[in-house]
Amino acid sequence: MYLAKRFVLLAAFSFLLFTGTGCGKKIEVEETAPLERPAQIFVEKVDGIDDDFILGVDVSSALAEEKSGVVYYNEDGTRQDIMKTLAESGVTTVRIRVWNDPFDADGNSYGGGGNDLETAKELGIRATKYGLNVIIDFHYSDFWADPSKQMAPKAWQGMDINDKTDALYKFTKDSMNELLNEGINIIMVQLGNETNGKLSGERQWNFIAKLMNAGAKAVRETAKKHKTSIMTAVHFANPENPEQYIKYADYLKQYSVDYDVFMSSYYPYWHGTLENLTSILTKISTDYGKKVMVGETSYAYTYEDGDNSGNSVSAESVCDFRYPVTVQGQATSVRDTAAAVTACGEAGIGVVYWEPAWIPVPGSSYEERSVLWEKYGSGWASSYAGSYDPNDAGKYYGGSSWDNQAMFDVTGHPLASLSVFRYLKEGASTDLRLDAINKPVVTVRLKDPVTLPETVQAIFNDGSTMEVPVTWDTSAIDLSNISFQGVATYLIPGTAESNGSAMQTVCQLDIVEKNYIENPGFELSDLSMWNITNVDNKTTELFVTEKVSDAASGTCSLHFYSTNSVEFIVKQTVSDLTAGTYNYSMTIHGGDASTQEIVIYAIADGKTYEMPTSISSWREFKTPKIEGITTTDGTITIGIRVRCSSGAWGNLDDFLLAPVEE
Ligand code: CA
Repeated sequence: MYLAKRFVLLAAFSFLLFTGTGCGKKIEVEETAPLERPAQIFVEKVDGIDDDFILGVDVSSALAEEKSGVVYYNEDGTRQDIMKTLAESGVTTVRIRVWNDPFDADGNSYGGGGNDLETAKELGIRATKYGLNVIIDFHYSDFWADPSKQMAPKAWQGMDINDKTDALYKFTKDSMNELLNEGINIIMVQLGNETNGKLSGERQWNFIAKLMNAGAKAVRETAKKHKTSIMTAVHFANPENPEQYIKYADYLKQYSVDYDVFMSSYYPYWHGTLENLTSILTKISTDYGKKVMVGETSYAYTYEDGDNSGNSVSAESVCDFRYPVTVQGQATSVRDTAAAVTACGEAGIGVVYWEPAWIPVPGSSYEERSVLWEKYGSGWASSYAGSYDPNDAGKYYGGSSWDNQAMFDVTGHPLASLSVFRYLKEGASTDLRLDAINKPVVTVRLKDPVTLPETVQAIFNDGSTMEVPVTWDTSAIDLSNISFQGVATYLIPGTAESNGSAMQTVCQLDIVEKNYIENPGFELSDLSMWNITNVDNKTTELFVTEKVSDAASGTCSLHFYSTNSVEFIVKQTVSDLTAGTYNYSMTIHGGDASTQEIVIYAIADGKTYEMPTSISSWREFKTPKIEGITTTDGTITIGIRVRCSSGAWGNLDDFLLAPVEE
């Protein structure tokens, strides 16, 4: 009905074009070109980017958002179909997820956009109308599928692999026929979402491959029937583990999975460096002859939460914010991700930004918004999802965890970062502005003098940095006395200035215990003060790693992992201490040790002190402490012995040898 009406209008508008495929309906396309207007962001040109490079966004939640009362505007502040606004921003492709049956027995939406086939149809028709291509992302589940869960749809649970394969084939074929019958311009179909060794309840690769091939067969057949060309894609997460990607590619080859594109998620906070991304995707493309792309990426433009429902990434997140958390930082992250895929050569075909439209629904409180999330499925999960996914959705259901990574502000107006897509090929520049300040952290030992920095590092919107003067407001504390007040952390507000423009910032002042260990957290590259012994060279990985999420503090820590059994000793000898009593502690976390013997020790005046500790899981930090170490000759050796079974891993950090105050 909705289509038929537009069909009649066609004759009146000569600028309308037809799209569509061999059979089924046709959608009138209102050709929408990227807007030409002065940029509000800096975008470094991506050299070598193809004209047909996929500039995608996944706006699967948009329909549920609109039903909840969200309104999207164009760059001039006028209400407009979001698909048209996307096309005007230079977006070429929209990715849409499909869940088999995301409803409970009473028809209530599980949430997360409620993306069933009907939703995909409606979004796909609108995208096609504005000349956007469509990627269909079958999760082959009734709700979120990702590396942590790949549950089979309710209707397939309990099926053996043959029946499940038939069901998946039929579901894919029926869905594709329905979508193509509408005239939706589908260019690619995903055979699962982030299928890291699991798919639709199966964990064996021969079964996973069988399911993927059934999906691929259905896609090939329907594409042929509709006289169109559609790529098939497999999708994985965690490119920071390249060996894992090689394994997946090997399995896909071993089981002859029929796919064209090896798609990776790439969230900069968690997924390693861009160099690593380019390297692993290039290897996949050359060794296995596949196209490669980033199927999901994002970056936060603010730390603020817009809808009283916690965000996936926040100021408290332990992760690497490698760009300023600003609109410009978000744009630069997208640009650099596109450049990293382009660097894969001809095989690198595109980048998709995940859920730029998932902004807060109307309301002024959690309770008000919750009514809409529950009714329209516009939050990440509704309470009704608990019947399908009791352990995650059932416990933590709520609103958008993504509003601070959207490319629309909380009122539905596009951020300047959305226009990054139209500037990638030529580059863009704007007025130079202060974009962010790197907040200084000052660490002072007890009773030492405190000096705050006179300058801070400012980051400008073109990515350049400069030291600029700063004024600290110390009216609330007495700097001359503060290091005598015990161990504590203070946040001191300040104002940085550059060329007349000012920006608020904050200095974190940490008053810490005296520590006689040199390079106690491995933050310095010089390790000569440490004595690190890899016993019989059994431990396959033993080195300093620079990864915020593995460190107890700072960015570095001493990492270990071994495919053989683990055995190593780390120690440091401190001399010229004042005779007296000292305490020694350090911090460790890790896991996968079926057996372990981990002991910290200290040696002073010929006496050995020991304290056992252990590893359990990631970021479950243990801080064993030996108290009352006495020295008369001023020398103390501190250390740790680690013996674990193979497969164990962990990180050592924050060694501390502090005097016991009388
Ligand atoms: Ca939120």
